[in-house]
Amino acid sequence: TVALSSIAKSFGSTRVLGGVDLDIADGEFLTLVGPSGCGKSTLIRIIAGLEHQDAGGVAIGGAPVDHLRPHERRVAMVFQSYALYPHMTVRANIGLPLTMSRLRLWQRLPLLRLLSAQRRRVMRYIDADVAAVAGQLQLDHLLDRKPAQLSGGQRQRVALGRAMVRSPEVFLMDEPLSNLDAKLRVHMRTELAELHKRLGATFIYVTHDQVEAMTMSDRVAMMDAGSILQLGAPSELYERPASLKVAQFIGSPA
Ligand code: ATP
Ligand code: MG
Repeated sequence: TVALSSIAKSFGSTRVLGGVDLDIADGEFLTLVGPSGCGKSTLIRIIAGLEHQDAGGVAIGGAPVDHLRPHERRVAMVFQSYALYPHMTVRANIGLPLTMSRLRLWQRLPLLRLLSAQRRRVMRYIDADVAAVAGQLQLDHLLDRKPAQLSGGQRQRVALGRAMVRSPEVFLMDEPLSNLDAKLRVHMRTELAELHKRLGATFIYVTHDQVEAMTMSDRVAMMDAGSILQLGAPSELYERPASLKVAQFIGSPA
């Protein structure tokens, strides 16, 4: 579970989140929708630990994570821009979170730095994990390429692979398909839905696309001006919108 209680956040004098409460079940696909600037990205960045709330708490799997740094939380984030390193191969981009955690270990244990055999062994583990993820995402044949040599959809899958490689409990996705053309977007929608089923992980998903929200999600949270206007199954929001704003956003019949 991901439990958000009374999450509040301001940037300067601007209140961006006004005390958000939200409980997300294990394995749920929850989508955040709402007008630009309503606080969707800020909210998932707070769950990821990339931003800190002014008040309220985040718990994952029943334990508070507010004191944990991003890599210490069992979450992975997929960004709209993919955030791939252009000078690194697909293999290195996907394996980066594993390499980083090894480096942190080595920094803590100076002795290990000397043991190059040990190091090579660890690198082989990383390669095996990367290969397993690449296989699931049909990227096996692209591992030696650089991001510039990939199509948009392939880049998107590399970003997904980097999120998957540490087997997080929670995937946070901020408009991951918005840079793809319409046809590929429709295709990736199906792929993401299948991936969600296969992994059994919790997906917290942000989108501007009503069709994505309505077709992929178990529940949709409609936000406006830093709070949740309505939370429910897609059909509920569509058939019984709590306000005109929700109806207009979801596209319910008048
Ligand atoms: P969009 O749909 O356009 O991505 P959003 O719902 O994701 O919008 P946020 O990015 O969460 O919105 O931003 C919410 C508000 O907080 C906006 O008014 C934005 O300008 C402001 N904001 C976000 N990050 C910062 C920051 N680092 N410093 C100052 N203001 C910020
Ligand atoms: Mg945003």
